[in-house]
Amino acid sequence: MALIVQKYGGTSVGSAERIQAVARRVVETVKAGNQLVVVVSAMGKTTDGLVKLAHELSSEPSRRELDMLLVTGEQVTIALLSIAIQELGQPAISLTGAQAGIFTEAEHTRARILEIVPDRVERHLKEGKVVVVAGFQGVIATEDREITTLGRGGSDTSAVALAAALKASACEIYTDVPGILTTDPRIVPAAQLLTEITADEMLELASLGAKVLHPRAVEIAKNYGVPLVVRSSWTDEPGTWVMSPVPRSRSLTGLEIARSVDAVEFSTNQAKIALLQVPDRAGIAGQLFGALAREHVDVDLIVQSIHEGNTNDIAFTVNKQASKLAQAVAEAISPVLHDNFVPSHDRVLVAGDIAKVSIVGAGMIGRPGVAAQMFKTLATAGINIQMISTSEIKVSCVIAAADSDRAIASLCQQFEISTSSNEHDRQHPNAPSVRGVALDLDRARLAILQVPDRPGMAAELFGILAANNISLDAIIQSQRTRVIAGVATRDIACTVAQGDAADAKRALEASVAQLGCGAVVVNKSIAKVSIVGAGMISNPGVAAKMFNCLAEAGINIQMISTSEIKISCVVSQSQGVDALKAIHQAFGLG
Ligand code: ASP
Ligand code: MG
Repeated sequence: MALIVQKYGGTSVGSAERIQAVARRVVETVKAGNQLVVVVSAMGKTTDGLVKLAHELSSEPSRRELDMLLVTGEQVTIALLSIAIQELGQPAISLTGAQAGIFTEAEHTRARILEIVPDRVERHLKEGKVVVVAGFQGVIATEDREITTLGRGGSDTSAVALAAALKASACEIYTDVPGILTTDPRIVPAAQLLTEITADEMLELASLGAKVLHPRAVEIAKNYGVPLVVRSSWTDEPGTWVMSPVPRSRSLTGLEIARSVDAVEFSTNQAKIALLQVPDRAGIAGQLFGALAREHVDVDLIVQSIHEGNTNDIAFTVNKQASKLAQAVAEAISPVLHDNFVPSHDRVLVAGDIAKVSIVGAGMIGRPGVAAQMFKTLATAGINIQMISTSEIKVSCVIAAADSDRAIASLCQQFEISTSSNEHDRQHPNAPSVRGVALDLDRARLAILQVPDRPGMAAELFGILAANNISLDAIIQSQRTRVIAGVATRDIACTVAQGDAADAKRALEASVAQLGCGAVVVNKSIAKVSIVGAGMISNPGVAAKMFNCLAEAGINIQMISTSEIKISCVVSQSQGVDALKAIHQAFGLG
């Protein structure tokens, strides 16, 4: 007999009729020989309605009372669904989060799950009952038994956490869409349903998939190896499976907050090649990486910095064996790209002995301090960071090869990781090079100009943002240094949520002068378009294809940042939708 956890979202339980339909599916699943735990959301838009009511009474309602209010939504659904299931002759019992043993940290309105004590759930399952649990809620394990909620969209998290604690054979998320699609179907109607996606890809696509499946739920599924599927409540279609690697066994205590970083990875024997002062116009990146792809040069990280005086710097890393070839390609194409205006010794810059160190972990999503902690650790070890590249679940720093052992050791110590691994041990042989394309119109670009080029600066700047609880991604340092008053400086840029941009600027402006940096510049009219695919590793040409496709659409790339399985380009906001459409088509995803 298999134990399954099913979760039904708000729309799926939006009316008495729909609750009946859910009850029928539940009973069928039991009849097929399974034990069943069902996690539900509040009916329809109930939670939104309750939040609105509270705000009619107070502009800043107490977070504790908000929790008391919001948990009522799910409690309506569990009772109604249990009644509907019982009516079909199947024994069932409803439990609140507290009754189901879901213990959280003491953080009202955004608590993370610490532990699940599923004894009572297991007892009722043994009695042959379907156990219906209220999603999105938990309890603090103190005498007062204060009720908490997990943050909006949190019932996915409840379901996957319960599945992990019960060692369920699958967690099925039922929703009003057929599964995860290659892109947003409202923009690209030809978007296709995916039969599977890796958890890492799903996390990197957070901005695309978050509405369908909460990233925290994916994080738990990945960490505990919970088989997870997203499918429609209206049909019997198979939906999309979210694939996780076989996890190392880990304790169920500290379930959600045990670790922000899961691994320290490194890649030595790398070289960095930078093209300085290339013109800021459509087609440049495409030509460069097209030429490299034709020579089968496998490029790892790519960054393109914000432009200074109408030109950009593009830098990339390659394996050392490929560096001579990469350099030759870059030097050969440089006169074309540079229109021969830039003196040749200023065009191509090669740094032979570099290494890449990365921290990886789904737990860093929504925890802005993690990247800053990494920079701080490297700074304390006296290590200068030459290049930074970040994605949702990974921060990579390029450093001098001579520093790599020390960097790895201090990062392992800081993040309590016992062994680091060479990232090329991880392969995804069957994954397509591009699984999906995401467009994020909600970002702003934040640049800090003329940052002194010395250890500790990134740590200072991103520490300030972290202290103000501002999450960011796509951090990029310019390659070119400019000497100001005898000090070499670089520009650093990143993207933040538009809503955070003003706060971020204010926080940084209070300190930049003291740190010896220049102005803080915000640009809100940007769009970020990203491709994600586990198969893009060691698949030369994927980046070139993306850049060329943008060039053909006449779209200029303002910023490039990559991780192992993701390439993101910042373009002007007005061209975001066109960029998404062009890329989706170029990779044949329609
Ligand atoms: N009802 C909660 C919300 O609307 C939790 C959930 O549905 O996941 O955010
Ligand atoms: Mg949801």
